[in-house]
Amino acid sequence: MSLRTAAALREQVVSGQRDPKSIVRDSHAAADVADRTNKLNIFLARDPAVSERHAAAAATKMGDAEPGLLLGVPVAIKDNIATLDLTTSCGSRILEGYVSPWEATAVTRLREAGAVIVGKTNMDEFAMGSSTENSAYGPTRNPVAPHTVPGGSSGGSAAAVAAGIVPISYGSETGGSVRQPAAFCGVVGVKPTYGRVSRFGLVAFASSLDQIGVFGATVDDAALGLAAVAGYDQHDATSARHSVPDYRAAAGGSLKGVVIGRPKEYFPASLEPEMRARCERAFDAFRSLGAEVRDVSLPHTEYAIPVYYIIAPAEASSNLARFDGVRYGLRLQGDGLRGMYEATRSKGFGAEVTRRIMLGTYVLSAGYYDAYYRKAMQVRSCIAADFRAVFEGGVHLLFTPTTPSPAFAFGAKADPYEMYLSDIYTVTANLAGVPAMSQPIGRMGGLPVGGQLIAPHFGEREMFAAAYALERALGEEAHR
Ligand code: GLN
Repeated sequence: MSLRTAAALREQVVSGQRDPKSIVRDSHAAADVADRTNKLNIFLARDPAVSERHAAAAATKMGDAEPGLLLGVPVAIKDNIATLDLTTSCGSRILEGYVSPWEATAVTRLREAGAVIVGKTNMDEFAMGSSTENSAYGPTRNPVAPHTVPGGSSGGSAAAVAAGIVPISYGSETGGSVRQPAAFCGVVGVKPTYGRVSRFGLVAFASSLDQIGVFGATVDDAALGLAAVAGYDQHDATSARHSVPDYRAAAGGSLKGVVIGRPKEYFPASLEPEMRARCERAFDAFRSLGAEVRDVSLPHTEYAIPVYYIIAPAEASSNLARFDGVRYGLRLQGDGLRGMYEATRSKGFGAEVTRRIMLGTYVLSAGYYDAYYRKAMQVRSCIAADFRAVFEGGVHLLFTPTTPSPAFAFGAKADPYEMYLSDIYTVTANLAGVPAMSQPIGRMGGLPVGGQLIAPHFGEREMFAAAYALERALGEEAHR
């Protein structure tokens, strides 16, 4: 690949050919072109002076015996991950200008690994959405096809990689917010196992689903990006103690003996023929690499969207109660304390966030809790059991389309339910807690299409092995 990959940039820094400062200046120059000239609206906060400080810190580590995994590599971070020296607005008016007093553990690890932060990326407000159109600061445009959305909610982070500003960026996943924009923008996006990456400093949306994820220009960059942030953190009780394997060592291996499941629910008769064709080409590639492709069934898949859109809003309604005009960000005066709450929350939150809070409050209320929330939790167990049964039945990985269709035009999904359906193939992995990733597998109508690998809990290494192999086998076809 080009010298713009993270691995290549790091190599240049480690060998003393390039200075981290000159690299991040290039990133800011590319971001200026993307946002000022081409109006892609990728960044919500970006400060060359802050990047220079990170770059200077990275430069002092150039002579280290064991240089950091991302030494001198510029990265971009979704605006719901707390940074000390840049604002964290979550794409919302209610947190406009907010600077966190804490730094997310993932960000601390990035700095320790020598990464240089370019800026905070645009997103759907509080990560609720699939297009970045729900940002209070205007939508991001897809660098590959600027008349279309970049996907969401981590649309800015996907676009930052697709536009060549950074080789690695970070986003968050609650129901597909890394994989779906990765598919739309033609880059690699990984949602690790629930608990694989610390969520300390990630602003909570739906705590039983949330996980920090990574975008990369290549599978290798995504593997490198995940390695830099994965692992136990004492500040996050839900982070896993499992050791972190060497994901990059999965490169170049054979797929002999690997069984890849083809879940029939993800290939309905209604699937667009071109999407099916791109997936079939990927299955052919897997077979040519020595893998066996096996038809399987995940029978509860059809309930995933309704279950997700009960559980996620329920948890969101509770998590977002903290934005009350007292503790964080915006405060608007009203009649008394209650009036202040009302004014702040009704002006501070956008339409989709308000809808979710209302839906979530409803499904948790006495009388409806059993009918909706408890029922959804029970069906969620069935969805998780589907995955367990398939993986215990001798299937190592699953492969599916990441989304039913490629990037859509702005305003095309004005009906919220239509928008929710874009998550049909991604929410299942969040509900089950298993790792999943999207990588480019071709184009349809000129727009990028993503293929999704899903692995058992903590099976990231095996997932990467298949992703590396597929990327190599498809070569330039992945972008055609
Ligand atoms: N699009 C989904 C939603 O709106 C997923 C969002 C996410 O993963 N953060 O909830």
